Amino acid sequence: MSKKNQNNTGCNFFNYSIEKNFNKAAKFISVDNGILDQIKECNSVYRMHFPVKIDKKIKIIKAYRVQHSHHKLPCKGGIRYSSKVNQDEIIALAALMTYKCAIMDVPFGGAKGGIKIDPQSTSKENIEKITRRYTYELIKKNFIGPGIDVPAPDYGTGEKEMSWILDTFTSLRPGDINALACVTGKPISQGGVRGRKEATGLGVFYGIKEFCSIKEEMSSIGLDVGISGKRIIIQGLGNVGYHTANFFYKSDAKIIALAEREGAIYNKNGLNVSKVISHLKNTGSILNFPDAVNIEKTEKALEIECDILIPAALENVIHKYNAHKINAKIIGEAANGPITHEADSILEKKGIVIIPDIYLNAGGVTVSYFEWLKNLSHVRYGRVEKKFSENMNGELLNIIETICKKTISEKEKKIILRGANEIDLVRSGLEDTMVSCFHKIRNLKKSLNIQNFRTTSFLLAINKIIDSYEKLGIFP
Ligand code: NAD
Repeated sequence: MSKKNQNNTGCNFFNYSIEKNFNKAAKFISVDNGILDQIKECNSVYRMHFPVKIDKKIKIIKAYRVQHSHHKLPCKGGIRYSSKVNQDEIIALAALMTYKCAIMDVPFGGAKGGIKIDPQSTSKENIEKITRRYTYELIKKNFIGPGIDVPAPDYGTGEKEMSWILDTFTSLRPGDINALACVTGKPISQGGVRGRKEATGLGVFYGIKEFCSIKEEMSSIGLDVGISGKRIIIQGLGNVGYHTANFFYKSDAKIIALAEREGAIYNKNGLNVSKVISHLKNTGSILNFPDAVNIEKTEKALEIECDILIPAALENVIHKYNAHKINAKIIGEAANGPITHEADSILEKKGIVIIPDIYLNAGGVTVSYFEWLKNLSHVRYGRVEKKFSENMNGELLNIIETICKKTISEKEKKIILRGANEIDLVRSGLEDTMVSCFHKIRNLKKSLNIQNFRTTSFLLAINKIIDSYEKLGIFP
């Protein structure tokens, strides 16, 4: 392993963690090793340097777009802005996208992008300049487009950046009727889909909730069935972490600790998530929240005793130096790659159940897929059929009332008559995908007597990609 690619946990995220996980799963498959190598290898890496004038000086920006697999097109994956962005990390994240899409039956190859900047210390104007120039570079090399490669938000990016990407793309591709589908995670007014912003967090919630609803799983780790009252710790209060926290809070779970860059806060009786967010907005920090104690060293929050630990910030936060101190029954990987390969084995020996990133945080790409479909069909979900469903429900209700000689209240009528709108359809599609995929993974795990959900998830993904290559007729 090259020293250059090691981080402070002594782990090369891509070659070490993902490849090891892939190889563990591959042991259950008997195919030509060449096919496995083809699936594992990264197909294209575009590393770029481009100049941007910042504060009257020319600054050279380093950025990447990686397409890990072209077995299905377009490629799909977020773009992250961070001063820690490096090629190895982006390749790793692109690979995770390939496996994630395969598991969720989302018909894309995996991709990822990254720009090496610190978005916190870069002005909005400069982020816009850099984003537009990055998009221009992608267009120049044919690395973006509705049928080629479709970026989305990730760490350090959101709707704003996706709007700039769209605007740059459409101005350079005038008349492209499908241009809106060149990027997802856009604001609603720019062709976004309702429910995308919170999709990853909601997917995390649905996935963990499903696990917690199974008596056999919960009794094996000494917990009661259900979410209510479960003690939860969440690291990272950005897009994914905040929405995850909010959905659990609304389902009566106890959010006992929240961790951010500057420190963590703890209350054994549970934190009010919306009050913490107001406090964060007012003071710029989660620390000194009136109803909690501060934890100075933020990473120490991961070691507090809890039922469910949810890392939702960055990769490699649970490593060989702190894994033995983790005191949770379940770890839900909302972030990508939060547990290193060595830590994984330590946690498994401790009997901690890990619900892996390649399944658990795939709600984002699932709803991005819905957004892409919406953009290509040029119509909002529910627009065509909503009124028809309401009229049909009304007719049925009249018949039932006549037959039963009873009338129902106006409040009940409203519930029964309502046709589905976009957010209803997106959320039900997301829930259905998360729940059905969880059971596919669990059934495979049981049928092959596999120790953990991660190996099983990789196995499910690899099998689907092999099937896809075979049906393409590439391999004899
Ligand atoms: P984000 O930028 O919105 O939020 C990240 C949060 O983590 C920020 O609030 C940041 O301050 C906090 N953070 C940074 N370092 C920290 C530390 N050391 N301790 C505690 N908190 C820290 O990013 P996001 O979109 O929420 O992404 C978070 C993770 O989820 C990433 O691993 C990303 O790849 C993954 N993910 C995101 C999406 C998505 O739709 N955005 C989808 C799938 C996976």
